[in-house]
Amino acid sequence: MAEFEPDPPSAADIVVIGAGIVGLATARELKLRHAAASVVLLERESAPARHQSGHSSGVIHAGIYYKPGSLKARLCVDGAARLYAYCAERGIDARREGKVIVATKPDELGRLDELERRGRANLVEGLQRIGPAEVAEIEPHAFAIEALFSPNTGVVDFPSVARAYGGDFSAAGGTIVTGCEALRIIESDRDVIVEHSAGRTRCGNVVVCGGPWADRLAVAAGADPDPRIVPFRGAYLRLRDHRADLVRASIYPTPDPDLPFLGMHLTRGPSGEVLLGPTALFVGARDAYSLKTVRRQDLVESLSWPGTWRVFRGFWRYGATEVRHAISIRSFVAECRRYLPELRRSDVERSLHSGVRAQAIGRDGTLVDDFILTETGRCVHVRNAPSPAATSSLALGEEIADRCDRLAGVAAPIRG
Ligand SMILES: Cc1cc2nc3c(=O)[nH]c(=O)nc-3n(C[C@H](O)[C@H](O)[C@H](O)COP(=O)(O)OP(=O)(O)OC[C@H]3O[C@@H](n4cnc5c(N)ncnc54)[C@H](O)[C@@H]3O)c2cc1C
Repeated sequence: MAEFEPDPPSAADIVVIGAGIVGLATARELKLRHAAASVVLLERESAPARHQSGHSSGVIHAGIYYKPGSLKARLCVDGAARLYAYCAERGIDARREGKVIVATKPDELGRLDELERRGRANLVEGLQRIGPAEVAEIEPHAFAIEALFSPNTGVVDFPSVARAYGGDFSAAGGTIVTGCEALRIIESDRDVIVEHSAGRTRCGNVVVCGGPWADRLAVAAGADPDPRIVPFRGAYLRLRDHRADLVRASIYPTPDPDLPFLGMHLTRGPSGEVLLGPTALFVGARDAYSLKTVRRQDLVESLSWPGTWRVFRGFWRYGATEVRHAISIRSFVAECRRYLPELRRSDVERSLHSGVRAQAIGRDGTLVDDFILTETGRCVHVRNAPSPAATSSLALGEEIADRCDRLAGVAAPIRG
């Protein structure tokens, strides 16, 4: 079990900011590598994994979607393999249930070809192109003219994984401080000062894993304001218990290649509950788990960013559909019925589960897809860690720790 401290020390070798699954994996990796170093993890909330990491779909992605050669492609395939091994070792229930990605009309086949090409280039294990008869054996209620079957896709409770990372970090001597917000990072040639709500901590290196708030600390540390994080809320429906047998494991649509979202899928989670979603609706707060939550600073930052308006103009049709799904369960169900024809409005109810995606948007309106890690002096900033960052967390944590070590190599860490 991880232990939480109320007060940060005044000095440390490395400070990691943000105890989502990426910050926890990074802090764990750094502490396991450098047993003698003091590593402190600062979290603003009263406990870790309260934001994206506690609100995901729980899918262990196999690595199909991502552009070959990208960080996502490499770290997802490696991360998924390591996550399964880690969960087996720790007794965390991670089920390799598999999933089908279905094409429902001929004009989706080209996109399915491209996914297959990417999956094979990324060395995704066991990927198969299948026809309707094989789809019917795997998911008897799904409709597809062709599909990709990924047996290596699975589900896990990511908050349990995050707790286990925190436990490893504490057991190795790392310090997790909760209820402590990092406010500013001041770098000099000699050291870095992290100003936070409990005072200041002087350290050798800093890693910022702030998820939806990552851009704020990066900009405050002197980094480029491009890209900016813009929040998109993901809402879910759930299959009522008596209809949960409509889905055995996981059915995904063929995604729109212009969007970094995978489309609304139907997935049986580790508890057996089947969720439909998530949607992707522009919202007025980086923690808008309820649509009523609107924060002035978040909204001003989103709407004053030229890239946001470029996305609105370029994707207005998609945005209008998302608004319809948010308002109307019927419209949400109609979308899912394309690949689950038996689905009826009466089979579903709204789920209490929702998440807010931290979507990095470039000034030019690019919806940034790949993970982005940047550096300022002695700091590594995780500027974009959307899905599949939870799946990739062990491999991503290692990549971030490598970059932190490279920075530390040019400047010796300070001992507390
Ligand atoms: C709806 C949805 C579904 C998803 N489904 C999947 C999935 O099925 N599979 C998958 O692999 N990925 C999925 N993802 C993506 C995955 O959840 C994220 O990529 C991952 O959780 C990112 O982790 P993180 O640690 O970077 O961010 P977060 O979990 O958001 O953590 C950031 C942390 O930083 C803290 N913080 C921020 N600023 C400060 C500060 N100034 N001082 C101190 N602390 C601070 C926050 O409080 C928070 O705890 C999904 C995401 C969403 C939103």
